[in-house]
Amino acid sequence: MKRANLLGFDIDTYCFDDAVLFAKSLTGQVVTINPEMIDYASKNPKFKEIISQAELVIPDGIGIQIGLCIKGYKVRRIPGIEFAKRILKETSGSPVAFVGAKPNIAEKAVINLSKEIPKLNPVIVQDGYFSDTETIYQSLLSKRPRIVLVALGSPKQEEFIYNLKKDMPYALFIGIGGSFDVWSGEVKRAPEFFQKLGLEWLYRTIKEPKRLKRIFPVLPLFVLKVLKSEFNHAVRN
Ligand code: UDP
Repeated sequence: MKRANLLGFDIDTYCFDDAVLFAKSLTGQVVTINPEMIDYASKNPKFKEIISQAELVIPDGIGIQIGLCIKGYKVRRIPGIEFAKRILKETSGSPVAFVGAKPNIAEKAVINLSKEIPKLNPVIVQDGYFSDTETIYQSLLSKRPRIVLVALGSPKQEEFIYNLKKDMPYALFIGIGGSFDVWSGEVKRAPEFFQKLGLEWLYRTIKEPKRLKRIFPVLPLFVLKVLKSEFNHAVRN
C-alpha cells in the first residue's frame, strides 16, 4: 500500500484509477480526507483513531494535494463524489445503500444516477435526518449492501461508518459529504474551470458564504503547518 504521512495522518497516494481498482475489491471504510477533517481530528483523538483505522484514505481536498506536494508526493486530489460514482459504475448490479442528505434528496440522486448506471441496484435509500439510528443499522444489516454511501457530512458520516463496519465485513463504506445534493440536481458542482484549478472550495464559498468560517483560517494554516513540519524535519536531518 502506498501511504504518505501528513501531520501524523496516513494518506493513500494512489492515482484515481488505481484507487478505484484497489477499492473495487475492498471492504471497510473509505475516508475522503480534507484539511478541515485533519484540523478537527487533531483536537479529537476519537476521530483521529477512526481515520487511522480506515482501510483507504483518499486526498479529497486541494489542501491535501498541496500538503502532499510539499512533502514531495506528486498526487492529484481525488474528489469523493467522482470516486464514488466510478465505484458505482464498476460494481453496478451489486446492492447499494444510500444514507444521507435531506428528505427526498437521496431518492432524486438515485433516479439521476440510474439514468447513467442502468444496472444500479439501490436496496436502501434513507435520508440523513433520522433519530433512530438503531433502526437504520438493522435495515442495513438485513439488506446486506455491498456498497454503502454515507452522506452525513464530517465527522458524522465517519463515526456512523466506523460504528457499523465491523458488523458488515462484506461492505465497502464511503463517506461522501454533500454528494447526494449534487447528484440530485439541488446543488450545482463548481464549473470545470474551478475544478481544474483546484478552486472548487472557492466556488462553493462564493455560493455559500457561511462556508467561509469552515475554510478560513483552516486551509492556509494547514499549508503553513505542513511547511513548518517539513522545515523542522529538514533542520533536524
Ligand atoms: N446531513 C445529513 N444529516 C445531518 C447533517 C448533514 O444528512 O445530520 C447532510 C446534508 O444534508 C448534506 C451533507 O450531509 O447533504 C453535508 O454536506 P456538506 O456539503 O456540509 O459536506 P462536505 O461535502 O462539505 O463534507
